Amino acid sequence: MKKAQFYIAIMMLLIVVVAVVSLAMVTGFHISTAKRAQIISKGMTMNTDAPITAQIPLRIAVAGGGVGGMFLGYALQSKGFNVTVFEKAAKFSRFGGPIQLASNALSCINSLSPKLFENIMGRFTFTGTRKCGIKDGIRNEWYSVFEAIKNLAEWNDLPYTGVIDRPDLQDVLIQNIQEGTIINNAAINKYTQNSDGTVDIIVGDKEGNEKELKGFDVVVGADGIWSTIRAQMWNEPSSRPGTCTYSGYTLFAAETVMNPNSNFFKEEGYFDAGYKVYIGPGKYFVTSDVGSGRIQWYAFLALPPGTKSRSSNVEFVKEQFNGWTNEIHACLDNTPEHIVEQRDLYDRRPSILKSWSKGHVTMLGDAVHPMMPNLGQGGCQAIEDAFVLTNLLCDVTEKAQIPGVLQEYYRQRLVRSAIVQGMSRLSSDIIITSFSTPFKFAEFLKEGGSYKYLTFPSVLTFYLQIFLPYIFYAQFGYLYSYSPSSFDPATIKKYVDNSLRRNRAEATKVYESISEKCITYFSAKSMSFMKYNTVSAETSLISDAATMRSSAVSKL
Ligand SMILES: Cc1cc2nc3c(=O)[nH]c(=O)nc-3n(C[C@H](O)[C@H](O)[C@H](O)COP(=O)(O)OP(=O)(O)OC[C@H]3O[C@@H](n4cnc5c(N)ncnc54)[C@H](O)[C@@H]3O)c2cc1C
Repeated sequence: MKKAQFYIAIMMLLIVVVAVVSLAMVTGFHISTAKRAQIISKGMTMNTDAPITAQIPLRIAVAGGGVGGMFLGYALQSKGFNVTVFEKAAKFSRFGGPIQLASNALSCINSLSPKLFENIMGRFTFTGTRKCGIKDGIRNEWYSVFEAIKNLAEWNDLPYTGVIDRPDLQDVLIQNIQEGTIINNAAINKYTQNSDGTVDIIVGDKEGNEKELKGFDVVVGADGIWSTIRAQMWNEPSSRPGTCTYSGYTLFAAETVMNPNSNFFKEEGYFDAGYKVYIGPGKYFVTSDVGSGRIQWYAFLALPPGTKSRSSNVEFVKEQFNGWTNEIHACLDNTPEHIVEQRDLYDRRPSILKSWSKGHVTMLGDAVHPMMPNLGQGGCQAIEDAFVLTNLLCDVTEKAQIPGVLQEYYRQRLVRSAIVQGMSRLSSDIIITSFSTPFKFAEFLKEGGSYKYLTFPSVLTFYLQIFLPYIFYAQFGYLYSYSPSSFDPATIKKYVDNSLRRNRAEATKVYESISEKCITYFSAKSMSFMKYNTVSAETSLISDAATMRSSAVSKL
């Protein structure tokens, strides 16, 4: 009870803090693109065409070729910097589930490069145009619809939020980066800052060989949540667990293709809903359209870390959601056991006392602000970091300015990333600890004192329903307030129409492979559509994703 009251107080505070920002957006306060850039970057040059580094071709090493590192590599190179991205993984396998790119990240990408944005749109699925929100997981009724996600994008001339497969995003970036910029099987194990302002790095491969590369002007640690650069800069004992906080939650996830006649689509068809968050006592379940007829599901459970060994994840999750809506069980029943992944979720407190930068070395993304995935903002914040850092480095006219510029980058990014980190943690804590099945007067009048939802969390959830739309306007208003470029509505409509047409064609094609006693599913490991025979328990390849999609699109 005490905890719930604390959360309400925090939420109210949050509303007030972000209300000012969101009010400006909600009331349609429009500013020009150039003005936005000035406001956001406080005086830094945002002219994307300027030949910034012709006189000073700074030599920059980036540790990590994830979302943040790869985007930074592209951004720096597009401005003329001499950049190398060192990636620990031996090769970039086409592996990984979809990632949501929200309107704020899309706006940064477009501001940096309309061409890159256009390429991303070629593989993008918009979810923010459709019905998204929270459902009562037991009664299967919509509890709160996120109108803010669509309205705020429209009122601010931003593209809607959507998803893209991580390998597709990676492909787009690799195709736009000059060959030889990204080096695989090359982990940055250590750096040394020299008195002349240069930085030397020790790069190691999987076989244990190491070599020293000398004379970088800047080194950026974009090496993820277990960052080696962070461990060295902040003198942490090791880059492994202990340096991050276990959130208290573990997550189960998989991607599957639901039969269009399934119970899952009884209320909303495949093209009607974007994502749905099913709430109930002590846990929650999320489904999202991720394009090509696929539904991705996540189950968030409050469990201690390291609970991975059990005979069946599907059965375990089904037990956890026993008595919840058929929509959840339809997803679980349509998921072969071997594709369910479990992941313990870690984050960190914002680094208020220790700067992300020291001398000529700095960090971005999960290395400095890992966050809960609830708002789908971890990667988006890494993109914002890369965007700001690149633009600040463009203002460097003498190498002696670099340490100051890297501190300025930390100052500009700290508050926003900390707020988003806080909102992400708060939203998962609130959903799990405070939300429950909402109290209903009609049911109470019928059942009287024995009514099972006459509990504090249920009554609280009932009242919260009144405030939630405002909270979501505040939340999305704040998230979308960072938007250095905007679009005319006709252009956005064109992207949405194209994406929907492609998604329809791909989904129709994928649905052709659905047959009785078989589950059609998607393997994020091999990026292919597969079939699982529920009788023989055999799996077989239907088609790799690229072939399936191009055959669908060729008919358009
Ligand atoms: C379940 C889940 C769902 C999510 N969904 C979303 C979403 O929808 N939208 C969103 O924006 N975010 C989402 N996130 C968060 C997002 O994945 C991360 O915030 C994002 O990947 C961070 O990017 P990064 O580049 O900082 O780190 P990473 O993507 O982790 O990349 C780090 C890279 O560095 C490499 N590396 C590590 N050490 C070294 C070294 N010493 N030298 C060289 N290379 C090294 C690694 O191999 C890796 O490639 C989600 C997270 C989870 C867990």
